[in-house]
Amino acid sequence: MAPGIARDSPHMSPTPASQSPGRVLEDEIIPARAPWDHVLRRGERLRIIDVEGNQSGDFLMYALHDDSERYSAQDTIAAQGNIFLRQGTVLLSNEGNEMAVITATTVARHDTIGGACSCESNTLRYGHHTKAQHACVENFLDSHARHGRGKRDMVSNINWFMNVPVEVDGTLGIVDGISAPGLYVELEARMDLMAVISNCPQINNPCNAFNPTPLRVIITAPISSACSGAS
Ligand SMILES: [Zn+2]
Repeated sequence: MAPGIARDSPHMSPTPASQSPGRVLEDEIIPARAPWDHVLRRGERLRIIDVEGNQSGDFLMYALHDDSERYSAQDTIAAQGNIFLRQGTVLLSNEGNEMAVITATTVARHDTIGGACSCESNTLRYGHHTKAQHACVENFLDSHARHGRGKRDMVSNINWFMNVPVEVDGTLGIVDGISAPGLYVELEARMDLMAVISNCPQINNPCNAFNPTPLRVIITAPISSACSGAS
């Protein structure tokens, strides 16, 4: 939970859409465990809302003109000299171009090193009985299959709302989240791109508080391109 923000604060819900400047193009709920993808044009904003709190949203981006250009965790981390994604972080592609910038976040930081859960990693970490459990990689592949992509197009992803602290000796943890109901992150696209979200189905570690829940996504166009007088 972010400092100074109470879980039951009336200011955190239920109308974050009204706080987002611009004309609303999409306002959708991603059901628990489900994949989602959508085109974002340069200048459009995507707000992802952690509706019930402590829900990881695994996230990838691909350039629309050529999807061999895609989000790069390594380039993003190296450029900002920090492993956490915060307000102002510029999300870079594997070609070093700006794909998006984090324009707002009510959660202090987000992860981009913890990776996406898969049936295989679940089996290794949590036992063979988890092999049949749906996982983020399957969600990404579900989206990819509808857009001509496949396993070779999987790259290191962002985990919105996931808390992966790094100790001084470099040890990683996946621990209780610092998000809460109604908190959100908002991106502005710096190029035309496809955003892909896996609403993480993980039930074996605290990234979803052991209980996957819905995410809400709102896409807005900048005011300057909205119709005059639009509300
Ligand atoms: Zn996952």
